[in-house]
Amino acid sequence: MELIKIRKELLDYLLQLARDFYPREFAGFLRERAGVFEEVLIAPDPHFGQGSAFFNTWMLPMDDSIKGSVHSHPGPNPWPSRADLNFFSKFGGVHFIIAYPFDEKSVRAYLSDGSPVPFEVVE
Ligand SMILES: [Zn+2]
Repeated sequence: MELIKIRKELLDYLLQLARDFYPREFAGFLRERAGVFEEVLIAPDPHFGQGSAFFNTWMLPMDDSIKGSVHSHPGPNPWPSRADLNFFSKFGGVHFIIAYPFDEKSVRAYLSDGSPVPFEVVE
């Protein structure tokens, strides 16, 4: 598997969204171009509960360039909840979780089976 890449501008924007939404969570879908995550689409109707965000899979945009998701956790725990894992497994792709305090060190990426995966931030 190729190394997962995310554009620094996008990551900075996601960190800002996480801070802006705090203490609520935000959730979005990530669009990839040429192997790099470049853009976020804020989920129109994320379902929030159990201290974690997950998505209404019936609301998934019909868009081949969407290869993952992102959501924030208002606490310091970056690990996926059971609801997160359920969503990851349905959607496939790569899933970022941004935990409090929403800096680069508090970002984790997971594969659809919930296993953590390294990623590279590219300029
Ligand atoms: Zn979560």
